Amino acid sequence: MKPNVLVIAGHDPSGGAGIHADIEAIHSLGGLASTLITGLTVQNSINVQGFALTDVDLLRRQARALLDDYQFSAVKIGMTGSPDIIRFIGEVLDELPGVPVVLDPVLAAEAGGSLGEASVPQALLNDIFPRSVLVTPNLPEARTLTGETDIDLCGEKLLASGCLSAVITGTHDDTDAVENHFFMRSGTRRWQWPRLPGSFHGSGCTLASACAAQLAQGRSLEGALDEAQHYVARCLQNAWQAGKGQLIPDRRG
Ligand code: PLP
Repeated sequence: MKPNVLVIAGHDPSGGAGIHADIEAIHSLGGLASTLITGLTVQNSINVQGFALTDVDLLRRQARALLDDYQFSAVKIGMTGSPDIIRFIGEVLDELPGVPVVLDPVLAAEAGGSLGEASVPQALLNDIFPRSVLVTPNLPEARTLTGETDIDLCGEKLLASGCLSAVITGTHDDTDAVENHFFMRSGTRRWQWPRLPGSFHGSGCTLASACAAQLAQGRSLEGALDEAQHYVARCLQNAWQAGKGQLIPDRRG
């Protein structure tokens, strides 16, 4: 049976990031993605120009329909958009005790366009971090969430907010190789990946969804993250220039 991942994230019409990325990654890794779409964005491969959030009552009805029907093996959360939607997500997670939650704390697109209200970081820290087995911020997101600049201090503070583990991805850092820093309660681990030319739309979404797909199949946290990074590396190696902006990963992996 395919493991079923509940994805709660936003729609990116360019097909690069958001729910498209989540569905493609989870499908490619052998899972089924069920989706609650928190909002629609206006964007292309260059930048985000705006967003409109989904009515919370509609999301609640969709969630009820799914929860009455499916058993979920993992949850992946991406763009949340507002504290109201974050509260709703907390209600959904209350109904899924023991199901591993991967949170990609999406705040803005790489080119800067906002993907949520200003109070989203604090609401995520309060309501969703303590319920997550893995959070996957990139370095700018980790800095915004923690108020620290040093990666190790960012990691410490992320763990202090209650998540079981955190990976801070180094795509946006200025190091020669891309270094992904994984913080667990038992210690830290680093992976290094060659820095590929160009920048990619949806690499963070792809990584978080791949982790959720792996966890849904019963892998350990560290094993899931390891497999997911290898998958993302393949997707990025085969990325292509679909438009005038960032490259779009090929998630057939
Ligand atoms: N979710 C949505 C709906 C988005 O539009 C974006 C970026 O534009 C993201 C998430 C984050 O994308 P990335 O994986 O590039 O961090």
